[in-house]
Amino acid sequence: MTDYLDRLNPEQRAAVETVDGPLLVLAGAGTGKTRVLTTRFAHILLTGRAHPGQVLAVTFTNKAAREMRERVGVLLGRPAEGLWLGTFHALCARMLRRHAALLGLTPTFSILDADDQLRLLKQVMEAASVDLKRWPAPGLMAAIQRWKDRGLVPAAVTPAEDTDFAGGRARPLYAAYQARLLALNACDFGDLLLHVTELLRTNAEVLGQYHRQFRYILVDEYQDTNLVQYLWLRLLAQASGNICCVGDDDQSIYSWRGAEVENILRFEKDFPAARVVRLESNYRSTAPILAAASGLIAHNEGRLGKTLRPGRRDAAGEQVSVVGLWDSDEEARMVGERIEALRRDDGQGGRHGLSEMAILVRAGFQTRAFEERLITLGVPYRIVGGLRFYERAEIRDAIAYARILVQPADDLAFERIVNVPRRGVGDAALRAMHARAREAGIPLLAAAAILLDEGALKGRVRDALRDLLRGLDRWRETLPREGYVVTVATMLDESGYMEMWQRDKSAEAPGRLENLKEFVRALGDFETLQGFLDHVSLVMENEESSEGERVSLMTLHAAKGLEFDTVFLPGWEEGLFPNQRALDEGGNKGLEEERRLAYVGITRARRRAIISHAANRRIYANWQSSIPSRFIEELPSEHVAVTGAARLARDSMLRAPSVFAGQFPLAARRQQTIDVWEMPARPARAASFAVGARVFHQKFGYGTVTAASDNRLDVAFDKAGAKRVLDSFVEPA
Ligand code: ATP
Ligand code: MG
Repeated sequence: MTDYLDRLNPEQRAAVETVDGPLLVLAGAGTGKTRVLTTRFAHILLTGRAHPGQVLAVTFTNKAAREMRERVGVLLGRPAEGLWLGTFHALCARMLRRHAALLGLTPTFSILDADDQLRLLKQVMEAASVDLKRWPAPGLMAAIQRWKDRGLVPAAVTPAEDTDFAGGRARPLYAAYQARLLALNACDFGDLLLHVTELLRTNAEVLGQYHRQFRYILVDEYQDTNLVQYLWLRLLAQASGNICCVGDDDQSIYSWRGAEVENILRFEKDFPAARVVRLESNYRSTAPILAAASGLIAHNEGRLGKTLRPGRRDAAGEQVSVVGLWDSDEEARMVGERIEALRRDDGQGGRHGLSEMAILVRAGFQTRAFEERLITLGVPYRIVGGLRFYERAEIRDAIAYARILVQPADDLAFERIVNVPRRGVGDAALRAMHARAREAGIPLLAAAAILLDEGALKGRVRDALRDLLRGLDRWRETLPREGYVVTVATMLDESGYMEMWQRDKSAEAPGRLENLKEFVRALGDFETLQGFLDHVSLVMENEESSEGERVSLMTLHAAKGLEFDTVFLPGWEEGLFPNQRALDEGGNKGLEEERRLAYVGITRARRRAIISHAANRRIYANWQSSIPSRFIEELPSEHVAVTGAARLARDSMLRAPSVFAGQFPLAARRQQTIDVWEMPARPARAASFAVGARVFHQKFGYGTVTAASDNRLDVAFDKAGAKRVLDSFVEPA
């Protein structure tokens, strides 16, 4: 009956059996935190302490919730039903539907997606005569979300909290937005937690009802809760005090979404009787993987401090590989080859299942090269927690632009882009175009031209459409001369499409811009635009079926809590990982969060971790050299095997010119930057610049050295911000 307890080590067992009172399990990756939580759940039910509906369990993703439900079912020996198990959002939505009336909603209220939220906010701002050009709505949306993350309803936002937005009008606009939502019987995502927390805070009866219901509360990935989530938990746990949170401060990777690692410290303050259990044996990874991850994270300051030792019986294993490659295509080829080789032979006399392999990227745009490679090889893959590259909205838009360029009769493409970015071409204008197109049996674009000629359109619509049509003529004209890569890039630029995303201040916008750059990069791989478009159709047809073994592709953020036998970690280059944006925005804090992300990445691997970096990345038609991530240098060398690096330095000299030949018309006109540099043969030589020295860099301009080691310099550039560069690229200023 209690044999499920035998599958735990003594510390884990203590964490499971200490059922009553507050408990914090603070432990490193792979130490069995999630296993403890799942077993604890089953233990509470099996010992008759509570019915399934009396335990509240919070996971970070829906996927994790499904897994926990399954495992609890296995431990119980029957399907687990009637559980309150899910993400914060899912659980709050459920509560909110129960008490909708108390908040002025009906139980069928709708939950708006990001697009609808923004549309609504824009309406509110327009109604308040805010100049949307000067004060873009996404900026305000972000501020509102931050307030909601902190549990602040409009009345709770103090004047000092108000931003400079639209002359201190952010608060009243927030209030107006909330009123509109209510009038529409709708919530946005942040409201789910905000409303429920507010309700628990103000309505003793409802709070009492939940106090009686939830005897036990379980929380996974506690380090990534934000303030409102914490307040919600605290309110619910107040009465029983039976709350168990498991987490790892080294895996806190969502501060950009309002997560506050301080919640761990707060827990011990708010629940003074809390017991803290530490787990130190890692059962997931081999010793070298663990040592590499521990060595890396040791570079962070301000950690709570934990010990982590190998707990696997077969903990010996191969070193972590670090592979240097010429460019991202070669990187994708390497990963593809390794996947194929492992599939044939996993090195232990068996075949390596595809679902036991994962490629974890820092930025969404990186998936494209791997997707294409895997499709070419016929290796099934799935994108976890996101869309396949060519399915992403901004890429579909860009494809529509490209299609209308070669195929003016492509009505679907025209309709997609005619008002994106917003040109004021509304339904009425579209209807007129459709009517004319039907009458005359001509494409929409031609119909639009006729309507313009006839003077049938007026004002802003007329001007905007005329601009677009003239643009299309112009781009079509330059196509033979400039080549299609430049033309499509120009088109995305001049049409205002890129600008639309540049002005967007939402958290997703920078990723979308990166995807668009990657899109233009991908164009360059084909002989003709038609060839590219055909390729895209083929890729899209390559339908993702949910059945069967497949390689997982996802961002590092989406990989939290998961594990795989083999993990590929590509793109470990300065600027990409650590990501430049994180460094620019967060300084040292940003760097430390990036390092935690790297720690999360390595610790997903059970048996094999393969880190790679490319020496060159193409940005539009230009090449940019990149230097290996500082995280690679921070890995303890005795656990790391470096390959493929030295060869490249020479290769790059030989290959650079031919790579440019004929392929990129733009390269001929624009300045080319081909930086050829020594790959990490890494002879230790004394740093030639002292901290504080003023330097000049070819690409980044003037700056001041903030740290120097080996042949790398950290420089605070006057214009370009903090970067790590090779000292051979800077000269004394
Ligand atoms: P993360 O920090 O990445 O979320 P975690 O601490 O939640 O990791 P788990 O995912 O629960 O760790 O466990 C890691 C792996 O170790 C799992 O495969 C789990 O089944 C296994 N494991 C945990 N505890 C034990 C144990 N006592 N004996 C054998 N295997 C164990
Ligand atoms: Mg876990």
